[in-house]
Formats: sequence, structure tokens, C-alpha cells
Amino acid sequence: MEDCIFCKIANKEEKADIVYEDSDILAFKDISPMSSVHLLIIPKKHIVSIDHIEDQDQELIGKMFLVAKKIAKEKGLAQNYKLIINVGKGGGQVVDHLHLHLISKEPGQTITDQ
Ligand code: 5GP
Ligand code: ZN
Repeated sequence: MEDCIFCKIANKEEKADIVYEDSDILAFKDISPMSSVHLLIIPKKHIVSIDHIEDQDQELIGKMFLVAKKIAKEKGLAQNYKLIINVGKGGGQVVDHLHLHLISKEPGQTITDQ
């Protein structure tokens, strides 16, 4: 979608530090990380939020979580991360393109360690 920053990243019109890509999903580093590991996992398809998903998106949404698991495993973060989806302005969503936050610290350090 025009003027959507995450569509621009998916289309390679805007730069991002991409950590995973397939035909449907892209994962990249958050520009303003809340923790030493903070990734965003998005569908390449423009979906505004969880409030906007439809039956036909079932497989795509499932795939976002499988990608989260795969990235976490590859980075040695299994059992040591949070997945967060903010929904709508009241839910803290700022970018209106569905995204899953994967937040962790480096392997061996738990999120609650300061
Ligand atoms: P939300 O609050 O919508 O759930 O999260 C949006 C996230 O996107 C924020 O953590 C913010 O730092 C990140 N973000 C916003 N614009 C950009 C950008 O242009 N590039 C990247 N990599 N992250 C962005
Ligand atoms: Zn978009």
C-alpha cells in the first residue's frame, strides 16, 4: 500500500536490516529497539491489524508464528523471548501494517535481566 512504511520495506523501497525473507513474510530489526533483540515479523501483504484479518489469512498468520519460532531457534533464543502484537491505537499500534514483535536478549540472558 502506498505510504505504508512496512510495505515500502517489503518492496525494498526503504532500507531495513532484514533477518529473514520468504515469499510471504519478512523479518527485520526494529529501528528503535526495546531490547538487545527486537525484530518485527510482517506479512508482505498489507493487512492493517489483527482487527482486519480474514479467514483467507489463516495460513499467513500461522506462518508468521512459525517464522518467529524458526528465527528464535536459529538465534539460540528458544524458551527466552516474547511475541507481542499491538492492535489499534488503544493497543499501542503505531504502524498500521500488521507486525509481530519478537523481543529478547542475547542467548543466556533472560529478558528480565537488567
Ligand atoms: P507498534 O507500536 O506499531 O506495534 O510498533 C511499531 C514498531 O515499528 C516500533 O517498535 C518502531 O520502532 C518500529 N518502526 C517504525 N518505523 C520503522 C522503520 O521505518 N523501520 C524499522 N525497522 N522499524 C520501524
Ligand atoms: Zn503496508
